[in-house]
Amino acid sequence: MKIHVIDTGNFKLDGGAMFGVVPKSLWQKTNPADEQNMCSWAMRCLLIEDGNRLMLIDTGIGDKQTEKFFAHYYLYGSASLSRSLHQLGFHEDQITDVFLTHLHFDHCGGAIAWNDSKSAYRPVFKNAKYWSNEQHWQWATVPNSREKASFLSENILPIQESGQLAFIDRKENLTQAVFPNMDVLFVDGHTDSMMLPHISYKGKTIVFMADLLPSVGHIPLPYVMGYDTRPLITMEEKAKFLDKAAAESYILFMEHDSVNECCTVMATEKGVRLKDTFSFSEI
Ligand SMILES: [Zn+2]
Repeated sequence: MKIHVIDTGNFKLDGGAMFGVVPKSLWQKTNPADEQNMCSWAMRCLLIEDGNRLMLIDTGIGDKQTEKFFAHYYLYGSASLSRSLHQLGFHEDQITDVFLTHLHFDHCGGAIAWNDSKSAYRPVFKNAKYWSNEQHWQWATVPNSREKASFLSENILPIQESGQLAFIDRKENLTQAVFPNMDVLFVDGHTDSMMLPHISYKGKTIVFMADLLPSVGHIPLPYVMGYDTRPLITMEEKAKFLDKAAAESYILFMEHDSVNECCTVMATEKGVRLKDTFSFSEI
């Protein structure tokens, strides 16, 4: 098995929104803000070559929204999903599986694009199964008023219309049968039924953190995003996960940390804290 990091570009979000109740005097030590209080975030995905499977985990924000929409997110950097794939010598049509941790636009936007005449949407990966789960799909397609702005119908409905949608079964936990070197942890604090892949690689467990832990600055338990729908649940899920991550020396892959690709954590008297940061290529 081979794993590649796919950089799909960077964006900015308000620092206060990203750290919830934590004061700026604390969060700005790890995540400095610009003069408009915006902090920088990556949209970093993984591409996994495993036998005859070629699986992409998350797809970044994509390019089909209006200029006005993108102006809110200050996209920067020259990387894009297609450029990063092509640089590695892959083509979109080779992708067999697209695993979507959840359906917020900065995670799944790159999975659907305009057709050539801009008259309809099309799946970017025409030969792939697009993986979600039934609970999250229901949650995202009938969105609550809090998450409405994050679940964009043009990112979601074309997946089903194309016939490429597939579900991971949360109750039966059949993921081992679907992906032999991968397990999935379901969490409900950020949004309902977000999926965090645990990948066995070079004798280690790599965990794709998605929005349970957007950056190393979010490791202390109260550092929970203002966007989370159930912050108390996030805190419980973080506590449980971080204890396990420290005990089992998990490698945490950070989708949104603009500086650090990977980190490890350790138990301390104050709780679980950052141990080490490194790039994926150092694993
Ligand atoms: Zn999210």
